Amino acid sequence: MTAKIIDGKAFAAGVREKVAGHVARLINDHGITPGLAVVLVGEDPASQVYVRSKGKATIETGMKSVEHKLDPETSQADLLALIDDLNNDETIHGILVQLPLPAHLDEDLVINSISPAKDVDGFHISNVGLLGTGQKSMVPCTPLGCLMMLRDHHGSLSGLDAVVIGRSNIVGKPMAQLLLGDSCTVTIAHSRTKDLPEVARRADIVVAAVGRPEMVPGDWIKPGATVIDVGINRVDAPEKGEGKTKLVGDVHFESASAVAGAITPVPGGVGPMTIACLLANTVTACSRANGLDEPEGLTA
Ligand code: NDP
Repeated sequence: MTAKIIDGKAFAAGVREKVAGHVARLINDHGITPGLAVVLVGEDPASQVYVRSKGKATIETGMKSVEHKLDPETSQADLLALIDDLNNDETIHGILVQLPLPAHLDEDLVINSISPAKDVDGFHISNVGLLGTGQKSMVPCTPLGCLMMLRDHHGSLSGLDAVVIGRSNIVGKPMAQLLLGDSCTVTIAHSRTKDLPEVARRADIVVAAVGRPEMVPGDWIKPGATVIDVGINRVDAPEKGEGKTKLVGDVHFESASAVAGAITPVPGGVGPMTIACLLANTVTACSRANGLDEPEGLTA
């Protein structure tokens, strides 16, 4: 079998188009422009790239983008004061604090100081609790993107066996909650799981969010299963020339795609969906804040 490739780039383009349509309606029918504020503390090069591309994508959908770039030495009090201002700013509907923060700042405290209604990353403890109890919440972007692609591929996920490898707060745990919400039978695997290959082989859906290059080989995959590869790992690529690198996922694509029914590639799978879902969450937050209908198909 050769797996169907789930094209995250094309899927994300569709999500962005839907977001742009909803933004246009908010502006034209209600005079409301959704606004996203992104806060970056320090000069981490990868974070700077992420923040730039988030800002660009926000503007492309017609929303307002505000970037706050703060000195690496910024005090906790100053950062909390900025978040308080953004919480009270009616033109801002989504607030994202780029992680990781410098070591002198308390990440949990900072995230939990964002108004839950504006927490477009879905990391606030209130949103985690709402998701865990099956209530309306802001859902973390990466697992939301994975869920959208799975729903699109399968239609209903009800009754399917899903194995999520990885139990982080930003991917593994919320992914498991979302799959449970769609009535999958969910197993969360992690570094202490016994006989992981056997556990994975039971799954109709495997979501790999580990951070270990090509850890999941094809013989861990049940024939016909759907494989969602969240991992983004940069590895040496001597075949491309001296000193060259490339991105690979947590799944060994070549062997897994020979067995799976469908699979997301890296790059071009889950990655593009993460920013698209950030935009979706911003427009959802704006609609909710104004008591308007939520955009269809952009929430969990
Ligand atoms: P974390 O490091 O926070 O979590 C990794 C998880 O994998 C942990 O739960 C860990 O288990 C588990 N794990 C580690 N080694 C093994 C092993 N040998 N067998 C089974 N489980 C193992 O990572 P994240 O969740 O933040 O990210 C995971 C990957 O996804 C990374 O490659 C990251 O770059 C990528 N990512 C991609 C995004 C995207 O937009 N596509 C967004 C976010 C992340 P334990 O808890 O026991 O230590």
